[in-house]
Amino acid sequence: MTGAAFDGRLHDGASAAAHAVRVIASPDGLTIDQDGAASTVPYAELHLLDVDAQSLRLGRRGAPEFRLILPAAAREALKAQAPHLARVGHGGRMLALVGGLIAASAVLAAAVFWGAPLAAEPLARHTPAAAEAAIGDNVAAQISLAMRPCPASTAEPAVRATQALVDRLAAANGVEGPVEVTFVRTAAPNAIALPGRRIFVTAGLLDTVESGAEYAAVLAHEMAHVAARDGLVALYRHAGLGLMLEVITGGSGVAQQLVLLSGQLTELRFTRAQEQRADDRALATLAQLGHDPGALGRALARLKAETQGDEKDTRFDVPEWIESHPDIDARIKAAQAKARPGAAPTLSEDAWATIRAACDGKAQ
Ligand SMILES: [Zn+2]
Repeated sequence: MTGAAFDGRLHDGASAAAHAVRVIASPDGLTIDQDGAASTVPYAELHLLDVDAQSLRLGRRGAPEFRLILPAAAREALKAQAPHLARVGHGGRMLALVGGLIAASAVLAAAVFWGAPLAAEPLARHTPAAAEAAIGDNVAAQISLAMRPCPASTAEPAVRATQALVDRLAAANGVEGPVEVTFVRTAAPNAIALPGRRIFVTAGLLDTVESGAEYAAVLAHEMAHVAARDGLVALYRHAGLGLMLEVITGGSGVAQQLVLLSGQLTELRFTRAQEQRADDRALATLAQLGHDPGALGRALARLKAETQGDEKDTRFDVPEWIESHPDIDARIKAAQAKARPGAAPTLSEDAWATIRAACDGKAQ
């Protein structure tokens, strides 16, 4: 066994007490030794919850009760093995959003009495657009560290080629203000709606869908998330009550908390209800614009085929298209039922060719 070792405390949810554990930063995960029984948790399953001068607290995907507390010294070792667990920094400009969010203080009562998940939607609704934009900038900057933008020489023409479609979808969804599409080199097929009216589209998605109509159907789904501010809701839900209180009261830790969220991006998933709503809205929007809603079913079927058995490192991918969708077959069927063969093309062949070349074969 190699790697730095630390004494930590583990709350596993099975009992109320914390257990003393020995933790080793192994190459592929944290090996946790409790009374001689060791198991390794892959780094990709862990995220940073909190950090202060003495300690850092880690959470584990799919295990809401899991809390691992390590001494602050562990951060040095984690920096090399799993930077998302060690990231620290400051986001001075984020403090600027606090003033605007005080307007949302009425929601504080909801947060306290109902708990964070239930308050996430009302809080998102009450978050001023400027604050959401600031949060979106921060999240996009964090994601860009792992999802690198495609080369400007091909991405910029692609953004221009997609803009008319994006504007139509935005208008049909009542989204005010421009929506920004960013093409990133990530090979895993994905599209992500972030707070602040941003949509990230991966090179892998452009390689997976086979027509402008399928691409447009994916964008229509993402636009529905943008309209519902689902990215912000997901952030609030996963950041928990602590962030809400900080944001609302202007606590000094806001900037750091937001930066730390980058470690939780793997948790940034939408609920099944959010997905259902986005699908329904996408199908309605495509029909309203005279396009073929069945294209969403075809896109989903290709994404399903492409990602099954995928062993890629998805640490920074928000697997919103597949993993959070156990009911994908039902979604495919629902879209197929609305198919309208012979509907008007969504994008010209030229526009689609330009979009498809956004990453110049630079998927990684
Ligand atoms: Zn979705």
